Amino acid sequence: MTFKKLSQYFFLLEQNSSRLKITEILARLFAQAGEEEIDKICYLSLGRLLPSYRGLEFQMAEKMMQKAIAKAFGIDQEKVLRRYQEKGDLGLVAEEFKEEFKGKKQALLFGEDKPVGDGETLWVYEELLAVANEAGEGSVERKIGKMASLLGKLDGLSVRYIVRILLGKMRLGFSEMTVLDGLSWMITGDKSLRLLTEDAYNVVADVGEIARNIKASKGIEGLRKIKPKLGTPIIPALCQRIGTAEEIVEKLGKIAVEPKYDGTRLQVHLRKQGVSIFTRNLENVTHMFPDIVQALKKEVKVEEAIFDGEGLGIDPKTKKYLPFQETIKRKRKHNIASTAKEIPLKYFVFDILYENGESLIKEPFEKRRKILAQTVSAKGKVICLSPQILTSDPNKLRQYHDEQIKNGLEGIVAKKWQSVYEPGRRGFHWVKLKQEMTKKGGGLADTVDCVIMGVTRGKGKRAGFGVGSFLAGIRKNDKYVTITNIGTGLSDEQFKDLNKRSKKLKIKEKPRMYLVDKNQEPDTWLEPEIVAEIQADNITKSSIHTAGVALRFPRLIRFRDDRDPSQATTLGEVEKLYGMQFGNEGG
Ligand code: ATP
Repeated sequence: MTFKKLSQYFFLLEQNSSRLKITEILARLFAQAGEEEIDKICYLSLGRLLPSYRGLEFQMAEKMMQKAIAKAFGIDQEKVLRRYQEKGDLGLVAEEFKEEFKGKKQALLFGEDKPVGDGETLWVYEELLAVANEAGEGSVERKIGKMASLLGKLDGLSVRYIVRILLGKMRLGFSEMTVLDGLSWMITGDKSLRLLTEDAYNVVADVGEIARNIKASKGIEGLRKIKPKLGTPIIPALCQRIGTAEEIVEKLGKIAVEPKYDGTRLQVHLRKQGVSIFTRNLENVTHMFPDIVQALKKEVKVEEAIFDGEGLGIDPKTKKYLPFQETIKRKRKHNIASTAKEIPLKYFVFDILYENGESLIKEPFEKRRKILAQTVSAKGKVICLSPQILTSDPNKLRQYHDEQIKNGLEGIVAKKWQSVYEPGRRGFHWVKLKQEMTKKGGGLADTVDCVIMGVTRGKGKRAGFGVGSFLAGIRKNDKYVTITNIGTGLSDEQFKDLNKRSKKLKIKEKPRMYLVDKNQEPDTWLEPEIVAEIQADNITKSSIHTAGVALRFPRLIRFRDDRDPSQATTLGEVEKLYGMQFGNEGG
């Protein structure tokens, strides 16, 4: 497919906001794509070059892009800037200049380069990859040169999207899930394969790989064949909430009860060629944990495996676990080796999902745990088998829970002994019980992870911080709905930090996926990026918040830099929490 044709599809997608329509357009696009290019087309439509876990940050700075545009069309950078100030979108600016430039002799600018108008998608993709991969001395100039050359060669519409992709601002208004629906639609003409495609994505978090499999096997068989793949993250299983020990046992039967660690979820892929470590956000953080990488060689008795567990910082003096915020410090610090000494880490492994060529996710936990116990020792210095008790007695569960709280942990996770591993699901196979849930009266059963949708200036003392409150939302399918406005619980530092970050994330207009009541509109809209964990006293019905419910007496617990917006709490989950206030556990 030519990139010109692909851009026409992008244009169509941009013109439509109905999810159904978008799905249908994507299906047509995918049907036309060849087997060798469909994965790239999936990534490009999401505004990326690679699956998100590969984390190739190819974003070009705006200034750099302005230079590339100026160079491509032989104009002054000032002129580009002025047009950009008018339009607010460098993609449109580049497209306009391209149209104005039409007919002029491009060869003058690029010597031997001939305008190629209809570049093939694969060719354009390789060019973009080359821009992204430029590094080292002189790379800025080389990036600008390559980009300018590409802009000169493509048609106006292609130029619009190329610029947006490279700026990280594609924003066609849909996520991986809609791409999966598009693939289902391509096979059956409807979304009926959604569960299958989503299951496949949960096992191999790479829409491109799934699309390629479908194309290669001409349909549904490609989905059924998906198995965990070393090096590609599996979306981690999550926990449900149940308020009391009795109900947990009633619902799950025989359970393994484990401490609920308040650290960082880490999925470790061990293979002969090396190790990859992913966070719950599918971010590759291998380089941040050299201690785990080294310890694997010494402490683990297996050649190839995928482990699931939690990394926890340990205070070298008191030997106690460090709070979450301290543990993730090493993620932010540059000098990882010295931080690794300062904050030694223990990796508590609580599951094994793959071993020496075999997927274990369909095996019952009983069997997985047996294999895990043969692989990882409870006495490991760094890599350590998570302790657990087996029981069907609510009193034992409660007692174990109280012990964990005494030890400074968050609570417990109860796991159905006979259950399979459910990638990406918040199912009733794993249930968490935290301190605040068991407290009688006051406080919601759990905190809510909200996306910060916008900020409003402060008054009085807070005027100095730049931000006085923020609008917080939760997920409703592909959209975000508001649930509260928060101005309390933030330290001065957090206000300042939020102000700094909002400068980078601010956007002119309300994004399409934000559903916000007119009266709740903030001073400044932010791109969905920051996730805030919020505690509240209770949830009430609301006519001003588009969630239909609102958090009462909300306060910020912390910014969750380990989460991305696609993992924010959903409206369905909040509705369950709402029901739990009246003793209705849901589920
Ligand atoms: P919370 O906000 O309550 O910390 P969460 O939003 O981090 O929860 P949940 O799905 O509620 O995510 O709980 C699962 C998380 O609990 C996992 O992502 C993992 O990081 C953590 N966890 C700690 N200990 C365990 C354990 N023993 N087994 C499974 N997950 C555990």
